[in-house]
Amino acid sequence: MSPLSRIEQFNQLFPEIQAFRRKQFVEVVFQPTFRSWKDVSVFSKEMREKLDASIPWMSVKESVVKQSAKMDTVKALLEVEGGSMIETVLMQNARGWWTICVSSQVGCAMRCTFCATGKMGLTRNLTADEIVDQYRYWVDYLQMHPELPNRITNVVFMGMGEPMSNYENVRETLRTLLGNTDLGQTRITVSTVGVLPRLETLMNDPLWPHVRLAISLHSADAKTRKEIVPTSYDDFIPKLVDWSQRYLEKFGNRRHHLTFEYVMLKGINDTAHHAKMLASMIHKIGNIRVNLIPYNFTGGEFSTSTSKTVHDFFQYLESSGITVTRRRTMGEDIDAACGQLYASTNQ
Ligand code: SAH
Repeated sequence: MSPLSRIEQFNQLFPEIQAFRRKQFVEVVFQPTFRSWKDVSVFSKEMREKLDASIPWMSVKESVVKQSAKMDTVKALLEVEGGSMIETVLMQNARGWWTICVSSQVGCAMRCTFCATGKMGLTRNLTADEIVDQYRYWVDYLQMHPELPNRITNVVFMGMGEPMSNYENVRETLRTLLGNTDLGQTRITVSTVGVLPRLETLMNDPLWPHVRLAISLHSADAKTRKEIVPTSYDDFIPKLVDWSQRYLEKFGNRRHHLTFEYVMLKGINDTAHHAKMLASMIHKIGNIRVNLIPYNFTGGEFSTSTSKTVHDFFQYLESSGITVTRRRTMGEDIDAACGQLYASTNQ
């Protein structure tokens, strides 16, 4: 049985309480200056004491924090119920504010061959409180570090786990963040390996908030994709094309596009053939952005494409009329770059 959520615990503790108190309970945890129930002055002393004795203020506990030499990336290892560790990262973004990267599961079942989390296997889904509390953890961290800029403007679901395999809790997290912070839908990106049944669900789900979606394509050639993304299958590409067309028809506009993520693996998915396959796939769809990601070493046989190869790949796509971006690599010195989030207590 899944543990009771924070609000369910509250309802159990105060079964007769007025509705506005329930609303306050959800809101107060986002107040940056509050650090425990004891600080919540809108509640009576008796209520604060009862809360303090019964409901943890945070569902995640700081274990290890590492800062990059440049102080533009901070990684935290957080302990969750059951003793497992998850990772979350704070990264300075182009505007000088912060993007946080959150985990949605402890480990991951997708086994992508180039990804460190893939090697761990799946332990369990995170609850919505545990995902939300990664955001709250960073709000508190920034509060404790007044020398740093103090606004989190973006959230990406690119930490440990496959968000679409934890659909209900991710949806709940999105709704909570959108409802209680200044984050808007275009400031949140959910990254998925492309679990098509779940992508189908969200398209017709009135409760799913239409945040940005990024799909980890990594190759438009079915054979290559199956080699590096073992959950892929022969007709994944045409099915993704079909889904993307319908998704963009329904929700696409100038501000709402889809992103295909593409990790550049030397000699594997970075040839002229692969660039051509990718361009032709995207031409069938329309408003797709490609994000080329430098491969971060995780052990094993892969290496990142040479800068000339990346340049050529980029140029080919751009000259075919496709919007392409290149991701900066951050936090490599603290193993916080993509795919390096491998929780172990001795890191
Ligand atoms: N399960 C989600 C989130 C994964 S992490 C997904 O598959 O999208 C976010 C991105 O980092 C994904 O595109 C993932 O493929 C990529 N990634 C994983 N390992 C990487 C590595 N070693 N180097 C660069 N990118 C990596």
